[in-house]
Amino acid sequence: MSIQHVPENLPKRIQHFIGGEFVDSLDGDTFEVLDPVSNQTYLEASAGKQADIDRAVAVAHQAFEEGPWPGMLPRERARILNRIADIVETRNERLAELETFDTGLPITQALGQAKRAAENFRFFADLIVAQADDTYKVPGKQINYVNRKPKGVAGLITPWNTPFMLESWKLAPALASGCTVVLKPAEFTPLSAGLWPEIFREAGVPDGVFNIVHGYGEQAGDALVKHENVRLISFTGESATGSLIFANAAPTLKGLSMELGGKSPAVVFADADLDAAIDSTVFGVFSLNGERCTAGSRILVERGVYDEFVRRYVERAKNIKVGDPHDPATEIGALVHPEHYAKVTEYIEIGKTEATLAAGGGRPAGSESGNYVQPTVFVDVPPTARIFQEEIFGPVVAITPFDTDEEALRLANDVKYGLAAYVWTTNLERAHNFGQRVDAGMVWLNSHNVRDLRTPFGGVKASGLGHEGGYRSLDFYSDQQAMHISLAPAHT
Ligand code: NAD
Repeated sequence: MSIQHVPENLPKRIQHFIGGEFVDSLDGDTFEVLDPVSNQTYLEASAGKQADIDRAVAVAHQAFEEGPWPGMLPRERARILNRIADIVETRNERLAELETFDTGLPITQALGQAKRAAENFRFFADLIVAQADDTYKVPGKQINYVNRKPKGVAGLITPWNTPFMLESWKLAPALASGCTVVLKPAEFTPLSAGLWPEIFREAGVPDGVFNIVHGYGEQAGDALVKHENVRLISFTGESATGSLIFANAAPTLKGLSMELGGKSPAVVFADADLDAAIDSTVFGVFSLNGERCTAGSRILVERGVYDEFVRRYVERAKNIKVGDPHDPATEIGALVHPEHYAKVTEYIEIGKTEATLAAGGGRPAGSESGNYVQPTVFVDVPPTARIFQEEIFGPVVAITPFDTDEEALRLANDVKYGLAAYVWTTNLERAHNFGQRVDAGMVWLNSHNVRDLRTPFGGVKASGLGHEGGYRSLDFYSDQQAMHISLAPAHT
C-alpha cells in the first residue's frame, strides 16, 4: 500500500463562498484536513464561526428578500437546475478524484456519485414544474386554495460520507423551492464542496442564493442552527448530533428535517434466493467502505440456512480487496479519518469479547499507515452485544441466527434505530407482512438500495425526524398558506 502524494491539481486551500465571492473567515482562522491514505494534512480550510455565519445568512436573507430567485417562475428555476445537472455530469472524473482523495472511497465507487447528484437536480427540476397546489371549492360560496411560498433561508448541514451527493440531495429541493441557502459541509471532507460555486455560477444561479461556510459543527454548524433568520435546518449526521440540534433549534422554532444513523437489519429466510441475498448483503455492508447510513450491518439468518450462509459469506468477505482507494481494483479503501478509524477498530475489539470473529478483525497485511480495516465478520452475535446495538459505520457486520418469523421481527426491532430493513424471502405474503411490521423508514424486499426519488427517504425512531423525497421535500422547503376567497356577498 503506497502513500499518495498530493496531486498538483488539488487545491491547497478551501474558503467560504459568500455572496458570490470566496472569502476567508473574518478572524482568519483555518483548520487542517487530512488525506485518509497518509493521514497527512493536505488542505487548509477556512474555519467559520458565528460572525461568518451571520455574514452568510445576511447575504442569503437579502437574496431571498430582494429576489429574483424566490419569485422566478418554476420553469425558470428548473432550467437552471437542469443546467446544474448537465455541468455536474461533465465534472464526473474530477469529482471522483476529489472525493476519493478526501474520503478514501474507492475510485470506482466515487465515479458513480456525479450521476446521482445530477439526478437529484433533474428530478427536482421536473417536480417543481409539475407541482400543483390544492384547491377546495364550496359551491357558490368560497374557493380556498393553497399558496405555496419558499420558506426563506435554508441551513443545510451535511456529513462526510459521499459528501457531494448528499449535499446535492439537500441543495436541489431547497433551490427548486425558491429558498436561498447556507451550506455547512462536514469538516472531515470539505474538498468537493469547492466545486459547487463554479458549477452554480456557470449554470446562472444569482450571487447570494447559494453560500457555503466551512468549519466545525460546534462552531459554524451551531451558529447556523441557532440563527433566527434561518427558517429551517436540513441535517444529515449522527443521531446524537441530531438530538443536540433539535434542542438548540427550539428557541427559534425552525423547521427540522433529520436523516440520522442506522443499524439496519438484513433478514434472510430459509426460502430466500441465497445467491442474491449473499451478493446483496456483502454489497450492503462493504461497499462505500461500510460508511453507509443504510448499511445492512446486522444480518439475521434463519437457522436452516445459517451455516451455509455464514460459510459462503465469510469466504466472500475474505476475498474483498482492501487497499489504495485510487487503485481501480480496490473494493474497500481507507476510512475517512483517524478518529473514525479509532472508533471502528475499538468496536472490533469490543466485538471480539462479545461474539465469534469469523473474518477480518484488524488491519490488512502490509498496511502500516492509512485508515485501512479488513472486512470484518462476527457470527453468533447475541442481541445484547454492543456490536449488534450500536452503529459502527465501517466494514463490520454482525450475523445472528433466528428460528421463527416472530423471533426475526423481535430481533430486527430490538435496537434504537429504524432507518432501513432488507428482507430476503420468496414468500411474498411473508415479505409484505414482515416488511410492514419492521421498524424502518425504508424497506427493501428482495432488493437493496434501489432509490426511487419520488418515495420518502428517512428513518423512524432514532434514525430520523421527518421524511424528505419527492413532494415531501418541496413541502419541507415551503410554507403553505391557506387562501380563502368569497364568491358571494359577505353577509350570505
Ligand atoms: P456528525 O453528526 O458528526 O456530523 C454531521 C454534520 O453535523 C457535520 O457537518 C458536523 O460538522 C455537523 N455538526 C456536528 N455537531 C454539530 C452541532 N452541535 N450543531 C450543528 N452541526 C453540527 O455525523 P458524521 O460523522 O459527519 O456522519 C456520519 C453519520 O451520518 C452516521 O451516523 C450516518 O448514519 C449518518 N448518515 C445518515 C444518513 C441518512 O440519510 N439517514 C445519510 C448519511 C449519513
